[in-house]
Amino acid sequence: MKIYSTLSGKKEEFAPSGGEVKIYVCGVTPYSDAHIGHAMSYVIFDVIRRYLRYKKYTVKYVQNVTDIDDKIIDRANQLGIAPSELAKKYTDSYFEDMENLNIVKAEGDVYPLATEEIPKIIEVIQGLIDKGHAYPAGGSVYFRVRSAPDYGKLSHRSPDDMRAAECTIGSGEKEDAMDFVLWKATKPGEPYWESPWGQGRPGWHIECSAMSLKYLGDTLDIHGGGQDLIFPHHENEIAQSESFTGKKPFVKYWLHNGLVQLGGDKMSKSLGNLITIKEALKKYSADALRIFILSSHYRSPLTYSEEGLEAAQNAGERLLRVVSRDDPAGGKGEALNAESYRKQFIEAMDDDFNTARALAVLFDLASAINQACDAGVSIGEARNTLVSLGREVLGLRLRHVIITPPPAELTITTYAPDVIIGANPTPELEERVTRLVEERLNCRQEKNWQRADEIRNKLAELGVDLEDTPQGTKRVWRRTPSVEALDKLIAELDISL
Ligand SMILES: [Zn+2]
Repeated sequence: MKIYSTLSGKKEEFAPSGGEVKIYVCGVTPYSDAHIGHAMSYVIFDVIRRYLRYKKYTVKYVQNVTDIDDKIIDRANQLGIAPSELAKKYTDSYFEDMENLNIVKAEGDVYPLATEEIPKIIEVIQGLIDKGHAYPAGGSVYFRVRSAPDYGKLSHRSPDDMRAAECTIGSGEKEDAMDFVLWKATKPGEPYWESPWGQGRPGWHIECSAMSLKYLGDTLDIHGGGQDLIFPHHENEIAQSESFTGKKPFVKYWLHNGLVQLGGDKMSKSLGNLITIKEALKKYSADALRIFILSSHYRSPLTYSEEGLEAAQNAGERLLRVVSRDDPAGGKGEALNAESYRKQFIEAMDDDFNTARALAVLFDLASAINQACDAGVSIGEARNTLVSLGREVLGLRLRHVIITPPPAELTITTYAPDVIIGANPTPELEERVTRLVEERLNCRQEKNWQRADEIRNKLAELGVDLEDTPQGTKRVWRRTPSVEALDKLIAELDISL
């Protein structure tokens, strides 16, 4: 297996340092809802983790939450709430988004919060001071960049180039304009922690060094993040970690994903062109978003477009339809052999996680299954291969999702599993649709066919088809209805939630 490392600038044979693959990916600063750029990065590193596990590697994964930062403090001040309250709200929102995107949180994975790791952060800063790599000044502590002779090796810049580009605005406390802050002295009204240098809070870069050291040790196999983090964030992490441990390399393979663009610009908060994950999931399924992201190489920029997502949505529905087909031969007689497809899929993934090629192989397999099915050839095994690669490695749900069973007090006695094609049924939506299904069943029992049909037709208009099956009512979620539209329908029908 070959993977491209930003440090060497080429594809290298993957050889992890020990029994388990240690992965660290920079996490979010929770001050607003996560957007498509976050979705891209975390879906990609989710697929990388899934693939390594598929190849029987043991993976240990750590991803931080920067729950104290200038951005959090500024936003909380604007809203007149405590920074910790804001951070908690958006940390929860982030993990909810990740769950909706089917991003695995495996047992043993760690998601540490910066505010809960202050002792380790102080320990690393003190160690850097003791070794002459850092110095306190005016209640803050700075990293002495000149003390790390190979600073710039990741971003392939020399200190003098960086120095020339460096803006010299600063507190005037620094020995050198390039030096960066490890510990920030507190300002009035800000949250702070006690430290040997006075009250203050950690800088962003030191958090990642401290947390990776604490949970993964001195050397990581893979460190990931967006390309916008290469400089200065990851360059600073290398300088801090290698100076603290005295061991090189801090990271064996540096992986950086391309950035999401919208109409030629980077998608970013400052440009005001963000599309949040929540917004996208109202229109498209998680499978569609994953297919869209994985259709291009992870190192390339990804241009967000409605057309691209529509196409991904259709592609996801195509796969789901193939997965739903019955085996015409019932597993007997001639069978479609999918082994060559599986091999091509693995080859693509082994080549620096070429998910675009792997997905193309999956769609070829889907076409082959359709053809075999039409010809009366058994597809059972081939379909299993498709499902296993799609689900286990690419993290597609690809299934008739069974959502939470309806509450016991409902009058529905039988209930068929839901089919989700192009929708994202949240518990809020599900509750409302369940209520409408229940009302329809009541109407049928009372032989009020007109009202029962009205409910079915109105729900179909909103994107949810109801099918009566021997197992009960089956809900086919073709599109995500809005809560407002469902509430309006419920009010029109004069039923209570
Ligand atoms: Zn980081």
